[in-house]
Amino acid sequence: MGSILQCIECGRQYPTNSLIYTCDTCGGLLDVLHDLDALKATATRALFDARLGSLDAPYDSGVWRYKELVYPDLDPALIVSRPEGNTRLYNVPKLAEWAGVRRLHLKHEGENPTGSFKDRGMTGGVTQARVLGKKRVACASTGNTSASLAAYAALAEIQGIVLFQNKQVALGKLAQAVAYGATCIRVDGDFDRNIQLVRQISEELDIYVLNSVNPFRLEGQKTIMFETIQQLRWEAPDWIVVPGGNLGNSSAFGKGLKELFDLGLIDRMPRLAIIQAEGANPLYEAYKRGFDRMEPMHAETIATAIKIGNPVNYRKAMRTIEWTNGVVEQVTDQEIMDAKALIDAQGIGCEPASACSLAGIRKLTDAGIITKSDRVVGVLTGHVLKDPEATIAYHRSELADITPHYPNTVYDSAASLESLRAVLEGLQEPVQV
Ligand SMILES: *Cc1c(COP(=O)(O)O)cnc(C)c1O
Ligand SMILES: [Zn+2]
Repeated sequence: MGSILQCIECGRQYPTNSLIYTCDTCGGLLDVLHDLDALKATATRALFDARLGSLDAPYDSGVWRYKELVYPDLDPALIVSRPEGNTRLYNVPKLAEWAGVRRLHLKHEGENPTGSFKDRGMTGGVTQARVLGKKRVACASTGNTSASLAAYAALAEIQGIVLFQNKQVALGKLAQAVAYGATCIRVDGDFDRNIQLVRQISEELDIYVLNSVNPFRLEGQKTIMFETIQQLRWEAPDWIVVPGGNLGNSSAFGKGLKELFDLGLIDRMPRLAIIQAEGANPLYEAYKRGFDRMEPMHAETIATAIKIGNPVNYRKAMRTIEWTNGVVEQVTDQEIMDAKALIDAQGIGCEPASACSLAGIRKLTDAGIITKSDRVVGVLTGHVLKDPEATIAYHRSELADITPHYPNTVYDSAASLESLRAVLEGLQEPVQV
Protein backbone atom coordinates (compact mmCIF):
# COMPACT_ATOMS: atom_id res chain seq x y z
CA MET A 1 0.00 0.00 0.00
CA GLY A 2 1.27 3.48 -0.85
CA SER A 3 0.84 6.69 1.15
CA ILE A 4 -2.58 8.23 1.74
CA LEU A 5 -4.15 11.36 3.20
CA GLN A 6 -6.23 10.71 6.29
CA CYS A 7 -8.47 12.98 8.36
CA ILE A 8 -7.25 13.12 11.96
CA GLU A 9 -10.83 13.48 13.23
CA CYS A 10 -13.05 11.07 11.28
CA GLY A 11 -10.46 8.89 9.58
CA ARG A 12 -11.75 9.46 6.05
CA GLN A 13 -9.04 8.76 3.49
CA TYR A 14 -8.10 10.46 0.23
CA PRO A 15 -5.47 9.66 -2.41
CA THR A 16 -2.30 11.75 -2.11
CA ASN A 17 -2.98 13.41 -5.46
CA SER A 18 -6.27 14.96 -4.25
CA LEU A 19 -6.44 18.74 -4.21
CA ILE A 20 -7.58 19.02 -0.62
CA TYR A 21 -6.35 20.72 2.56
CA THR A 22 -8.95 19.69 5.12
CA CYS A 23 -11.50 16.87 5.31
CA ASP A 24 -14.54 17.24 3.01
CA THR A 25 -16.73 15.47 5.54
CA CYS A 26 -15.84 17.07 8.86
CA GLY A 27 -13.31 19.86 8.16
CA GLY A 28 -10.59 18.06 10.14
CA LEU A 29 -6.86 18.40 9.45
CA LEU A 30 -5.21 15.81 7.22
CA ASP A 31 -2.16 13.63 7.79
CA VAL A 32 0.01 12.10 5.09
CA LEU A 33 0.19 8.51 6.29
CA HIS A 34 2.80 6.02 5.13
CA ASP A 35 2.77 2.25 5.35
CA LEU A 36 5.24 1.99 8.23
CA ASP A 37 5.02 -1.81 8.43
CA ALA A 38 6.14 -2.09 4.83
CA LEU A 39 8.85 0.55 5.37
CA LYS A 40 10.33 -1.08 8.45
CA ALA A 41 12.72 -3.19 6.41
CA THR A 42 14.08 -0.31 4.28
CA ALA A 43 13.90 2.77 6.55
CA THR A 44 16.83 1.87 8.77
CA ARG A 45 19.48 3.78 10.69
CA ALA A 46 22.09 2.20 8.39
CA LEU A 47 20.39 3.56 5.26
CA PHE A 48 20.13 7.10 6.64
CA ASP A 49 23.67 7.01 8.01
CA ALA A 50 25.02 5.85 4.64
CA ARG A 51 23.44 8.92 3.01
CA LEU A 52 25.09 11.43 5.36
CA GLY A 53 27.33 13.75 3.38
CA SER A 54 25.85 12.57 0.08
CA LEU A 55 26.67 14.82 -2.88
CA ASP A 56 23.81 13.49 -4.99
CA ALA A 57 20.26 14.84 -5.20
CA PRO A 58 17.89 14.24 -3.59
CA TYR A 59 19.79 12.60 -0.72
CA ASP A 60 22.06 15.63 -0.27
CA SER A 61 19.01 17.27 1.37
CA GLY A 62 18.33 16.92 5.09
CA VAL A 63 14.69 16.38 4.18
CA TRP A 64 15.01 13.92 1.30
CA ARG A 65 17.71 11.88 3.05
CA TYR A 66 14.63 10.40 4.71
CA LYS A 67 12.59 10.13 1.52
CA GLU A 68 11.18 6.72 2.49
CA LEU A 69 9.51 8.41 5.49
CA VAL A 70 8.60 11.70 3.77
CA TYR A 71 7.11 10.68 0.44
CA PRO A 72 8.08 7.12 -0.48
CA ASP A 73 6.16 6.70 -3.75
CA LEU A 74 7.23 10.05 -5.19
CA ASP A 75 9.15 10.21 -8.48
CA PRO A 76 12.46 11.85 -7.43
CA ALA A 77 12.47 13.87 -10.68
CA LEU A 78 9.61 15.98 -9.28
CA ILE A 79 11.47 17.06 -6.15
CA VAL A 80 12.13 20.81 -5.76
CA SER A 81 15.09 21.08 -3.39
CA ARG A 82 17.76 23.70 -2.68
CA PRO A 83 18.83 21.35 -0.91
CA GLU A 84 17.62 22.21 2.59
CA GLY A 85 18.30 20.85 6.07
CA ASN A 86 21.69 19.53 7.17
CA THR A 87 21.65 22.24 9.84
CA ARG A 88 24.01 22.25 12.78
CA LEU A 89 23.34 20.97 16.26
CA TYR A 90 25.29 23.21 18.64
CA ASN A 91 26.57 22.04 21.99
CA VAL A 92 26.16 25.11 24.23
CA PRO A 93 27.51 24.47 27.75
CA LYS A 94 27.33 28.11 28.84
CA LEU A 95 23.70 28.45 27.86
CA ALA A 96 23.02 25.08 29.47
CA GLU A 97 24.35 26.42 32.74
CA TRP A 98 22.27 29.58 32.42
CA ALA A 99 19.16 27.53 31.70
CA GLY A 100 19.84 25.15 34.59
CA VAL A 101 20.63 21.91 32.76
CA ARG A 102 23.83 19.94 32.24
CA ARG A 103 23.41 19.07 28.58
CA LEU A 104 21.85 21.40 26.05
CA HIS A 105 22.03 21.37 22.26
CA LEU A 106 20.51 23.96 19.95
CA LYS A 107 19.31 22.74 16.56
CA HIS A 108 19.73 25.74 14.27
CA GLU A 109 17.03 25.70 11.64
CA GLY A 110 17.94 29.29 10.78
CA GLU A 111 20.77 27.71 8.79
CA ASN A 112 18.40 26.60 6.05
CA PRO A 113 18.74 28.16 2.56
CA THR A 114 16.37 31.08 3.22
CA GLY A 115 17.13 31.29 6.94
CA SER A 116 14.28 29.39 8.59
CA PHE A 117 12.86 25.90 9.02
CA LYS A 118 10.10 26.84 6.59
CA ASP A 119 12.37 25.58 3.79
CA ARG A 120 11.99 22.03 5.04
CA GLY A 121 8.25 22.38 4.66
CA MET A 122 8.40 24.29 1.41
CA THR A 123 10.41 21.61 -0.41
CA GLY A 124 7.57 19.22 0.44
CA GLY A 125 4.84 21.71 -0.45
CA VAL A 126 6.24 23.00 -3.74
CA THR A 127 7.07 19.44 -4.77
CA GLN A 128 3.42 18.56 -4.17
CA ALA A 129 2.39 21.57 -6.28
CA ARG A 130 4.37 19.93 -9.08
CA VAL A 131 2.77 16.56 -8.46
CA LEU A 132 -0.62 18.28 -8.85
CA GLY A 133 0.53 20.27 -11.88
CA LYS A 134 -0.16 23.65 -10.23
CA LYS A 135 1.40 26.75 -11.76
CA ARG A 136 0.71 29.13 -8.87
CA VAL A 137 1.27 28.80 -5.13
CA ALA A 138 0.28 31.18 -2.35
CA CYS A 139 0.49 31.73 1.38
CA ALA A 140 -0.37 34.22 4.10
CA SER A 141 2.60 34.67 6.30
CA THR A 142 4.19 36.33 9.28
CA GLY A 143 7.23 36.50 6.98
CA ASN A 144 9.37 33.38 6.84
CA THR A 145 6.90 31.25 4.94
CA SER A 146 6.74 33.99 2.30
CA ALA A 147 10.51 34.18 2.00
CA SER A 148 10.69 30.43 1.62
CA LEU A 149 7.76 30.15 -0.78
CA ALA A 150 9.23 32.90 -2.94
CA ALA A 151 12.55 31.08 -3.20
CA TYR A 152 11.11 27.63 -3.93
CA ALA A 153 8.57 28.98 -6.43
CA ALA A 154 11.45 30.67 -8.26
CA LEU A 155 13.38 27.41 -8.28
CA ALA A 156 10.35 25.52 -9.62
CA GLU A 157 9.63 28.30 -12.16
CA ILE A 158 6.07 28.82 -10.97
CA GLN A 159 4.37 31.95 -9.63
CA GLY A 160 4.65 32.56 -5.89
CA ILE A 161 2.04 34.82 -4.29
CA VAL A 162 2.45 36.07 -0.72
CA LEU A 163 0.04 37.98 1.50
CA PHE A 164 1.65 40.07 4.23
CA GLN A 165 -0.09 41.61 7.17
CA ASN A 166 0.03 45.39 7.38
CA LYS A 167 3.43 46.73 8.49
CA GLN A 168 4.15 43.85 10.86
CA VAL A 169 6.67 41.91 8.78
CA ALA A 170 10.32 41.86 9.84
CA LEU A 171 12.51 43.67 7.35
CA GLY A 172 14.74 40.76 6.35
CA LYS A 173 11.75 38.61 5.45
CA LEU A 174 9.98 41.21 3.33
CA ALA A 175 13.25 41.92 1.52
CA GLN A 176 13.65 38.23 0.68
CA ALA A 177 10.16 37.79 -0.77
CA VAL A 178 10.59 40.88 -2.94
CA ALA A 179 14.08 39.87 -4.01
CA TYR A 180 13.16 36.29 -4.94
CA GLY A 181 10.49 37.66 -7.27
CA ALA A 182 7.24 36.64 -5.59
CA THR A 183 4.04 38.59 -6.14
CA CYS A 184 3.91 40.46 -2.82
CA ILE A 185 0.63 41.87 -1.55
CA ARG A 186 0.30 43.85 1.65
CA VAL A 187 -3.15 43.28 3.10
CA ASP A 188 -4.73 45.52 5.69
CA GLY A 189 -5.61 42.70 8.06
CA ASP A 190 -3.90 40.48 10.61
CA PHE A 191 -2.36 37.08 9.96
CA ASP A 192 -5.47 35.16 10.91
CA ARG A 193 -7.63 37.16 8.48
CA ASN A 194 -5.03 36.72 5.74
CA ILE A 195 -5.14 32.95 6.16
CA GLN A 196 -8.90 33.01 5.48
CA LEU A 197 -8.43 35.26 2.45
CA VAL A 198 -5.72 33.12 0.90
CA ARG A 199 -7.82 29.97 1.26
CA GLN A 200 -10.80 31.62 -0.41
CA ILE A 201 -8.98 33.33 -3.27
CA SER A 202 -6.97 30.20 -4.01
CA GLU A 203 -10.08 28.13 -4.44
CA GLU A 204 -11.50 30.71 -6.83
CA LEU A 205 -8.36 31.12 -8.90
CA ASP A 206 -6.91 27.59 -8.84
CA ILE A 207 -3.88 28.44 -6.72
CA TYR A 208 -2.20 25.87 -4.49
CA VAL A 209 -2.13 26.94 -0.81
CA LEU A 210 1.12 26.48 1.06
CA ASN A 211 0.25 27.54 4.59
CA SER A 212 1.01 25.03 7.30
CA VAL A 213 -2.49 23.58 7.00
CA ASN A 214 -0.85 21.84 4.02
CA PRO A 215 0.10 18.36 5.24
CA PHE A 216 2.94 17.97 2.73
CA ARG A 217 4.76 20.85 4.41
CA LEU A 218 4.58 19.11 7.75
CA GLU A 219 6.10 15.96 6.22
CA GLY A 220 9.18 18.02 5.39
CA GLN A 221 9.29 19.74 8.77
CA LYS A 222 9.18 16.49 10.75
CA THR A 223 12.68 15.74 9.42
CA ILE A 224 14.00 18.29 11.94
CA MET A 225 13.39 15.55 14.49
CA PHE A 226 14.89 12.82 12.28
CA GLU A 227 18.03 14.83 11.66
CA THR A 228 18.45 15.95 15.28
CA ILE A 229 18.15 12.42 16.56
CA GLN A 230 20.49 11.10 13.89
CA GLN A 231 23.01 13.78 14.95
CA LEU A 232 22.62 12.47 18.51
CA ARG A 233 23.56 8.99 17.13
CA TRP A 234 19.95 7.87 17.31
CA GLU A 235 19.68 8.51 21.02
CA ALA A 236 16.49 10.33 21.90
CA PRO A 237 16.99 13.31 24.23
CA ASP A 238 14.72 13.74 27.23
CA TRP A 239 13.24 16.99 25.97
CA ILE A 240 12.69 18.79 22.70
CA VAL A 241 11.73 22.45 23.14
CA VAL A 242 10.19 24.45 20.30
CA PRO A 243 8.44 27.82 19.84
CA GLY A 244 4.76 27.58 18.90
CA GLY A 245 2.88 29.95 16.57
CA ASN A 246 0.66 28.31 13.98
CA LEU A 247 1.79 25.02 15.56
CA GLY A 248 2.90 23.40 12.30
CA ASN A 249 6.30 22.51 13.69
CA SER A 250 4.89 21.19 16.96
CA SER A 251 2.49 19.02 14.97
CA ALA A 252 5.17 17.80 12.59
CA PHE A 253 7.52 16.99 15.47
CA GLY A 254 4.92 14.85 17.23
CA LYS A 255 4.23 12.89 14.06
CA GLY A 256 7.92 12.48 13.25
CA LEU A 257 8.82 11.31 16.75
CA LYS A 258 5.98 8.83 16.81
CA GLU A 259 7.08 7.42 13.47
CA LEU A 260 10.66 7.04 14.70
CA PHE A 261 9.37 5.23 17.76
CA ASP A 262 6.94 3.01 15.84
CA LEU A 263 9.72 2.04 13.43
CA GLY A 264 12.05 1.19 16.30
CA LEU A 265 14.54 3.89 15.24
CA ILE A 266 14.40 5.30 18.79
CA ASP A 267 13.64 3.28 21.88
CA ARG A 268 11.70 5.92 23.80
CA MET A 269 9.74 9.08 23.08
CA PRO A 270 11.28 12.41 24.06
CA ARG A 271 8.95 14.85 25.76
CA LEU A 272 8.02 17.94 23.78
CA ALA A 273 7.69 21.41 25.29
CA ILE A 274 5.91 24.00 23.14
CA ILE A 275 6.72 27.57 24.13
CA GLN A 276 4.40 30.46 23.27
CA ALA A 277 4.77 34.19 23.74
CA GLU A 278 2.55 35.47 26.52
CA GLY A 279 0.78 37.85 24.12
CA ALA A 280 0.03 35.06 21.62
CA ASN A 281 -0.74 32.09 23.84
CA PRO A 282 -4.01 30.39 22.80
CA LEU A 283 -2.45 26.92 23.03
CA TYR A 284 -1.06 27.63 26.49
CA GLU A 285 -4.46 28.84 27.71
CA ALA A 286 -6.19 25.78 26.29
CA TYR A 287 -3.54 23.48 27.81
CA LYS A 288 -4.11 24.98 31.26
CA ARG A 289 -7.83 24.25 30.91
CA GLY A 290 -7.20 20.64 29.93
CA PHE A 291 -7.63 21.32 26.19
CA ASP A 292 -11.36 21.91 26.51
CA ARG A 293 -11.30 24.21 23.50
CA MET A 294 -9.08 26.79 21.81
CA GLU A 295 -10.16 30.41 22.16
CA PRO A 296 -8.89 32.59 19.30
CA MET A 297 -7.31 35.80 20.59
CA HIS A 298 -5.80 39.05 19.40
CA ALA A 299 -2.03 38.39 19.29
CA GLU A 300 0.66 40.87 20.34
CA THR A 301 4.36 40.05 20.69
CA ILE A 302 7.72 41.30 19.49
CA ALA A 303 8.32 37.78 18.18
CA THR A 304 6.41 38.40 14.94
CA ALA A 305 6.95 34.84 13.63
CA ILE A 306 4.66 33.52 16.37
CA LYS A 307 2.24 36.43 16.52
CA ILE A 308 -0.75 34.20 15.81
CA GLY A 309 -4.01 34.21 17.72
CA ASN A 310 -5.83 31.35 15.98
CA PRO A 311 -3.36 28.56 15.23
CA VAL A 312 -4.56 26.35 12.40
CA ASN A 313 -2.80 23.22 13.66
CA TYR A 314 -4.27 23.35 17.18
CA ARG A 315 -5.76 19.85 17.01
CA LYS A 316 -2.53 18.29 15.78
CA ALA A 317 -0.51 20.10 18.44
CA MET A 318 -2.87 18.78 21.08
CA ARG A 319 -2.23 15.28 19.77
CA THR A 320 1.52 15.92 19.93
CA ILE A 321 1.28 16.87 23.59
CA GLU A 322 -0.60 13.65 24.25
CA TRP A 323 1.80 11.42 22.25
CA THR A 324 4.92 12.90 23.84
CA ASN A 325 3.63 13.49 27.37
CA GLY A 326 4.44 17.08 26.51
CA VAL A 327 3.90 20.45 28.15
CA VAL A 328 3.06 23.98 27.01
CA GLU A 329 4.72 27.01 28.58
CA GLN A 330 4.64 30.74 27.93
CA VAL A 331 7.34 33.41 28.16
CA THR A 332 7.25 37.21 28.13
CA ASP A 333 8.72 39.43 25.42
CA GLN A 334 11.29 40.52 28.02
CA GLU A 335 12.36 36.90 28.55
CA ILE A 336 12.43 36.29 24.80
CA MET A 337 14.67 39.25 24.04
CA ASP A 338 17.07 38.55 26.92
CA ALA A 339 17.38 34.89 25.87
CA LYS A 340 17.95 36.02 22.29
CA ALA A 341 20.74 38.34 23.41
CA LEU A 342 22.45 35.43 25.15
CA ILE A 343 22.15 33.12 22.12
CA ASP A 344 23.37 35.95 19.90
CA ALA A 345 26.34 36.68 22.17
CA GLN A 346 27.49 33.06 21.79
CA GLY A 347 28.15 33.96 18.16
CA ILE A 348 25.23 31.75 17.13
CA GLY A 349 22.30 34.16 16.89
CA CYS A 350 18.61 33.75 16.09
CA GLU A 351 15.49 35.80 15.47
CA PRO A 352 13.23 36.74 18.42
CA ALA A 353 10.68 33.89 18.13
CA SER A 354 13.46 31.30 18.20
CA ALA A 355 14.64 32.47 21.60
CA CYS A 356 11.40 31.17 23.15
CA SER A 357 13.16 27.82 23.24
CA LEU A 358 15.96 28.92 25.57
CA ALA A 359 13.69 31.19 27.65
CA GLY A 360 11.22 28.31 27.96
CA ILE A 361 13.87 25.80 29.02
CA ARG A 362 14.96 28.09 31.83
CA LYS A 363 11.40 28.60 32.96
CA LEU A 364 10.64 24.86 32.90
CA THR A 365 13.84 24.14 34.81
CA ASP A 366 12.91 26.73 37.43
CA ALA A 367 9.54 25.04 37.75
CA GLY A 368 11.19 21.64 38.23
CA ILE A 369 9.55 20.18 35.13
CA ILE A 370 12.83 19.82 33.26
CA THR A 371 15.47 18.50 35.66
CA LYS A 372 19.18 19.27 35.68
CA SER A 373 20.25 15.84 34.46
CA ASP A 374 17.86 15.88 31.46
CA ARG A 375 19.31 15.99 27.95
CA VAL A 376 17.61 18.89 26.22
CA VAL A 377 17.44 20.04 22.60
CA GLY A 378 16.13 23.53 21.87
CA VAL A 379 15.11 24.35 18.31
CA LEU A 380 16.18 27.71 16.87
CA THR A 381 13.69 28.39 14.13
CA GLY A 382 15.09 31.46 12.33
CA HIS A 383 18.30 33.30 11.48
CA VAL A 384 19.65 36.33 13.37
CA LEU A 385 19.50 38.51 10.22
CA LYS A 386 15.75 38.10 9.80
CA ASP A 387 14.78 40.87 12.20
CA PRO A 388 17.64 43.38 12.53
CA GLU A 389 15.31 46.09 13.78
CA ALA A 390 14.32 44.16 16.90
CA THR A 391 17.95 43.33 17.65
CA ILE A 392 19.17 46.90 17.35
CA ALA A 393 16.24 48.37 19.26
CA TYR A 394 16.93 45.94 22.14
CA HIS A 395 20.58 46.89 22.42
CA ARG A 396 19.71 50.58 22.20
CA SER A 397 17.05 50.14 24.86
CA GLU A 398 14.38 51.42 22.47
CA LEU A 399 11.80 48.69 23.00
CA ALA A 400 8.73 49.71 24.98
CA ASP A 401 8.41 47.75 28.24
CA ILE A 402 11.64 45.81 27.69
CA THR A 403 14.82 46.44 29.68
CA PRO A 404 17.88 44.99 27.97
CA HIS A 405 19.70 42.92 30.62
CA TYR A 406 22.45 41.90 28.19
CA PRO A 407 23.02 45.04 26.11
CA ASN A 408 25.93 45.58 23.76
CA THR A 409 26.54 49.29 23.23
CA VAL A 410 27.65 50.80 19.94
CA TYR A 411 30.20 53.53 20.77
CA ASP A 412 30.90 56.69 18.81
CA SER A 413 34.39 58.06 18.33
CA ALA A 414 35.95 60.97 16.52
CA ALA A 415 38.41 59.92 13.81
CA SER A 416 41.40 60.34 16.10
CA LEU A 417 43.64 58.06 18.17
CA GLU A 418 42.90 60.00 21.37
CA SER A 419 39.20 59.60 20.96
CA LEU A 420 39.48 55.89 20.08
CA ARG A 421 41.79 55.32 23.05
CA ALA A 422 39.36 57.07 25.37
CA VAL A 423 36.56 54.81 24.19
CA LEU A 424 38.59 51.60 24.57
CA GLU A 425 39.91 52.54 28.01
CA GLY A 426 36.46 53.41 29.27
CA LEU A 427 34.77 50.21 28.08
CA GLN A 428 31.94 48.62 30.00
CA GLU A 429 32.08 44.98 31.03
CA PRO A 430 31.34 42.68 28.10
CA VAL A 431 28.16 40.61 28.11
CA GLN A 432 28.43 37.76 30.60
CA VAL A 433 26.29 34.65 30.42
C1 LIG B 1 7.02 30.02 11.45
C2 LIG B 1 7.95 30.29 12.57
C3 LIG B 1 7.66 29.92 13.88
C4 LIG B 1 6.36 29.30 14.27
O1 LIG B 1 6.25 27.97 13.84
P1 LIG B 1 4.82 27.28 13.78
O2 LIG B 1 5.07 26.03 13.03
O3 LIG B 1 3.91 28.21 13.06
O4 LIG B 1 4.40 27.06 15.19
C5 LIG B 1 8.59 30.15 14.86
N1 LIG B 1 9.76 30.75 14.57
C6 LIG B 1 10.06 31.12 13.32
C7 LIG B 1 11.36 31.82 13.08
C8 LIG B 1 9.17 30.90 12.28
O5 LIG B 1 9.50 31.31 11.05
ZN1 LIG C 1 -12.95 14.14 8.64
